[in-house]
Amino acid sequence: MQFRDLGAQYQSLKTEIDESIASVIDSSSFILGKQVSELENRLAEYVERRYCVSCGNGTDALQLALMIWGIGPGDAVFTSDFTYFASAGTSSILGATPVLVDIDLSTFNMDPDALEMQIKRVLEEGELTPKVIIPVDLFGQPANYDRIIPIAHKYGLKVLEDGAQGFGGSIRGKLACSFGDMSTTSFFPAKPLGCYGDGGAIFTDDEEVDARLRSLRAQGKSPVDKYDNREIGMNSRLDTIQAAILLPKFKAFVEHELDDVNKIAGWYTDRLTDSCITPVVQEGFYSSWAQYTILLKNAKSRNAMQAKLKQNGIPSMIYYPRGLHQQEAYRWMNLPDEWYLNTIEATKRVLSLPMHPYLSEDDVNAICRIVLEE
Ligand SMILES: *Cc1c(COP(=O)(O)O)cnc(C)c1O
Repeated sequence: MQFRDLGAQYQSLKTEIDESIASVIDSSSFILGKQVSELENRLAEYVERRYCVSCGNGTDALQLALMIWGIGPGDAVFTSDFTYFASAGTSSILGATPVLVDIDLSTFNMDPDALEMQIKRVLEEGELTPKVIIPVDLFGQPANYDRIIPIAHKYGLKVLEDGAQGFGGSIRGKLACSFGDMSTTSFFPAKPLGCYGDGGAIFTDDEEVDARLRSLRAQGKSPVDKYDNREIGMNSRLDTIQAAILLPKFKAFVEHELDDVNKIAGWYTDRLTDSCITPVVQEGFYSSWAQYTILLKNAKSRNAMQAKLKQNGIPSMIYYPRGLHQQEAYRWMNLPDEWYLNTIEATKRVLSLPMHPYLSEDDVNAICRIVLEE
């Protein structure tokens, strides 16, 4: 059994994907070919943002968005402590300081109360200027924007949605990658909408930001002359071949994959809800199930469960084994564990089970049988 079966998906979409790749090779239009703008248009339309600018990966997408706002030394950028490293690392690359925020243990997303506590602390200390909040749509569920956006307004901060895992999720019908001032996503193969390599995108409603992002992803070039460089940019584009792979995959994603992962999550929850803590999707929220993550009693029972699954040929993952405040790269910040009690609790007890749209009910039954065994 596979944790995320990309092979099964390829078998189901093989004809369309192969034809789409072949058409790029036939055209030799490998960089910013027509499939790239076609994909950008479709994704923008789907999430109901005016613009989508694709780029090299989800990390660059975050960095490009922060560059638009001129984020740098002396700036505080608030993000979750329980996420993939890039949510914070991109602020550090630009010389800004990530301020890590504890999570809500039921959704694994940023806790709005902890966010406000950290904003107040930074303001009281007076060393950094609060600038941006990067809420993360962890495991496929949008962050709590109902509460985070008003906090951003109260303190005059920008919101940058890290939708790398959230694409396809929604709150009362409003889709992930449409929240806040800008949003980003990733097309890393294992994400809800993945390509066959690296890829990412930024979403905005602002025409000027769209134009600057297109410049910044290509060395800060002018819109008309590639060799007229107007600011310092990156080299970060989505390959035409990756866009060509994403077009048929996006079609399947919208037509059935998103429904399928929700059906599969339902099977899991029905079977497991009495034996462990199953994922909580908030009222009115919809998840794209980047991960199906259960909470066991403690680290010992979690580790034993993972070993037992492995013995039975079932892969599982620990997302994430440590909070960002516990990462070696951030040791210098000396952040006290007391600020991150829910993150620490999660790191000890989480276990992500196989999850992808091509998982059969028999597979889910086999996995649950092991989890439910005494
Ligand atoms: C994967 C991921 C990223 C980075 O995306 P890449 O395409 O791997 O660079 C950023 N944030 C989160 C939450 C992610 O899961």
